[in-house]
Amino acid sequence: MPQRIHLSSPHLGGLERGYVDEAFASNWIAPLGPHVDAFQAEFARCVGAPHALALSSGTAALHLALQLVGVGPGDDVLVSTLTFSASVNPIRYLGASPVFIDSERDSWNMDPVLLEEELEARARAGRPPRAVVVVHLYGQSADLDPILAACERHGVPVVEDAAEALGSTYKGRVPGTLGKAGIYSFNGNKIITTSGGGMLVSPDEELIRHALKLATQARDAAPHYQHSEIGYNYRLSNVLAAIGRAQLRVLEDRVAARRANHTYYVRALGALPGVTFMPEAPWGRHTRWLTTLTVDPARFGADREAVRLALEREDIEARPVWKPMHLQPVFSAFERRGGHVAEELFRNGLCLPSGSNLTADELARVVNVVRAVHQRR
Ligand SMILES: *Cc1c(COP(=O)(O)O)cnc(C)c1O
Repeated sequence: MPQRIHLSSPHLGGLERGYVDEAFASNWIAPLGPHVDAFQAEFARCVGAPHALALSSGTAALHLALQLVGVGPGDDVLVSTLTFSASVNPIRYLGASPVFIDSERDSWNMDPVLLEEELEARARAGRPPRAVVVVHLYGQSADLDPILAACERHGVPVVEDAAEALGSTYKGRVPGTLGKAGIYSFNGNKIITTSGGGMLVSPDEELIRHALKLATQARDAAPHYQHSEIGYNYRLSNVLAAIGRAQLRVLEDRVAARRANHTYYVRALGALPGVTFMPEAPWGRHTRWLTTLTVDPARFGADREAVRLALEREDIEARPVWKPMHLQPVFSAFERRGGHVAEELFRNGLCLPSGSNLTADELARVVNVVRAVHQRR
């Protein structure tokens, strides 16, 4: 029996064991330690961020970022609707309300025109949002220039959720580093992993200093334990930072491997009627963290779900594109602007196995199943 093919599995580079052994040998097993400091410094250099803080998850990083740009109870936060729930949950942790913005078709990310309309409408109504969370989906930057300009005009801070987009570019700049704060994830399925972890970056040194304090149980500077605000236990352990340092060194290889998967899929499947791959927008490099396509059932002869189930029968994991947040039972009561683009991408969209460790045989298995569904139509 061939092995199950996963959507995106961890891919170790070979140096991890050495770094982790070093952590053990020096007994730096606790949170904090030299690998954490080095990982932060190396990550900051890699993305070109002035300041970086390693945390226990991308979700924790987003929670702190939102709190530190001032989001609190009763506030509204504009956020991409086509995303993973972790982009939105921290808005609710803080007692604020998400307002969902639809996607545009060039990158599948937040539509700058709809964002601008929402900001204008809210300015007229005297109810500006406290923040905007822009998500960079599946390895590709949103169209940041108009988004940043609109938010600047309205005095609204931008937090970038770049959990899926480490390694991508936007007009030669790095998504995640262009707003007031940005977050990345090192969850097991992301382009590099620490098994679990995240990073907060910001040009604002004071924001990162405060985030560090909050992430370390908000201890005041006193010899005894003293607290004047509510803290969290959100720091990354030194052992996991060791893994992250090794992973960071192979990031460019991982991007190249995922882009090669995408090229293979396009060559093998791109000519099938009704199959359209997620576009690479002209403004930068898409890492193809996940290779994602849409299936037009009328032209392909079968729908997205038929393709997914055929793959599953062959022990191949594929996944529908994110179900938009405005369609989620837990968020259905919140406001939105637009929504039909994200809904259409969800209805017809499929993520193919995209790991940087896929073999040529595994890629061939995937395309054979998809082709067979088309031929059986
Ligand atoms: C993975 C992910 C997160 C959360 O990261 P964790 O490290 O798993 O907490 C946030 N936003 C998006 C878009 C993600 O894909």
